[in-house]
Amino acid sequence: MLSQSTLPLKLPQLTQRPIYLDCQATTPVDERVLAAMLPYFTEHFGNPASTSHIYGWEAEAAIKKARKILADAIHATPEEIIFTSGATEANNLAIKGVAEAYFSKGRHIITVQTEHNAVLDPCEYLRSLGLEITILPVQSNGLIDLAQLQQALRPDTILVSVMAANNEIGVLQPLAEIGKMCRQAKVLFHTDAAQALGKITLSVEAMKIDIMSMTAHKIYGPKGIGALYVRRSKPRVQLAPQLHGGGHERGIRSGTLYTPQIVGFAKAVEVALAEKSSESQRLSQLQQRLWEPLSQLRGIYLNGDRVQRLPGNLNISVEGVDGAALLLGLQPIVAVSSGSACTSTKTTPSHVLTAIGREEALAYASVRFGIGRFNTAEEIDTVAAHVCSTISTLRQQSLIVSKR
Ligand SMILES: *Cc1c(COP(=O)(O)O)cnc(C)c1O
Repeated sequence: MLSQSTLPLKLPQLTQRPIYLDCQATTPVDERVLAAMLPYFTEHFGNPASTSHIYGWEAEAAIKKARKILADAIHATPEEIIFTSGATEANNLAIKGVAEAYFSKGRHIITVQTEHNAVLDPCEYLRSLGLEITILPVQSNGLIDLAQLQQALRPDTILVSVMAANNEIGVLQPLAEIGKMCRQAKVLFHTDAAQALGKITLSVEAMKIDIMSMTAHKIYGPKGIGALYVRRSKPRVQLAPQLHGGGHERGIRSGTLYTPQIVGFAKAVEVALAEKSSESQRLSQLQQRLWEPLSQLRGIYLNGDRVQRLPGNLNISVEGVDGAALLLGLQPIVAVSSGSACTSTKTTPSHVLTAIGREEALAYASVRFGIGRFNTAEEIDTVAAHVCSTISTLRQQSLIVSKR
């Protein structure tokens, strides 16, 4: 039981909870996903590594099925899927695992300024161990310049890591072009697809991806489960394990497989793919519905490319308002974040917005809207009206203050 003291002391007293528009941070578990998971907590609880009885066999069969669903979704084979605790672990395994395995071949890695910290921080760590890291800038629309990538490739480059979809500004990097370039240079290509899986078409074959990080909780699956795709042929990727133990997942990632989460992950992928075309159309419409009234105001800047972005993501910077005041004003009506949730404890402006050239005040006064499966047009209208009125109120207030 929770003792009184462990409860948060000051939760705001809201009669109605704000509308959730923070789907780039996480998403609720879909009821269909939860239903698929439940039997594996209680009835079918066996350890999938137990080979001598039906409890183990049932769990193993469920995992085999899940692995196949995930592999099919990205045009891979089941043997190429390594389950992890999420995209953070998958990114760490990919980057540190390649660095260690290819240490004698080369010690140069290329990544991008706008990557998630789960990519940038492992790279910084490797730099502290003596590897050379090139961090490419992005253009003002958030996309990398392919000519710059080409120039950065060296004979000792072992890995290029470029994300599929950005978690803050939703920008989609040109994966197929990057994959082609890397394959020609015989350099491994890793992509963090945490935000892209189930939302855009991802084919490790067509896009020549060698290693790919995925996670369930951004697509209505449970938290704490993800996977790493690791190419097994042409080329066969070598990875040094980062968790040693019972030799699970072909020795690459030890630890008892978390059957309910894995079953939920696969169900989440299945649902997302089945609904992908209709849902992405619906989300694009809602995104447009939110952008239209906001774009009528002066001094509103859209962050990230207009076209090459995730359906449902909108990131804006607002001129002439204080960033903290803006978020505070929005809080009672809409749950959004400024910058990425993972770095929201820091008081520095978002590294992504800085990378696309937003000056400090505009980077602070930014809002990320992540529209998702359970949002309605009515909710979007409510939010749009509230955002517009909050911005004009704050601007009027600052006008009064400056006139004093
Ligand atoms: C959410 C996210 C991560 C971290 O994934 P977890 O499964 O929460 O560890 C990594 N990269 C990107 C782009 C993300 O959006």
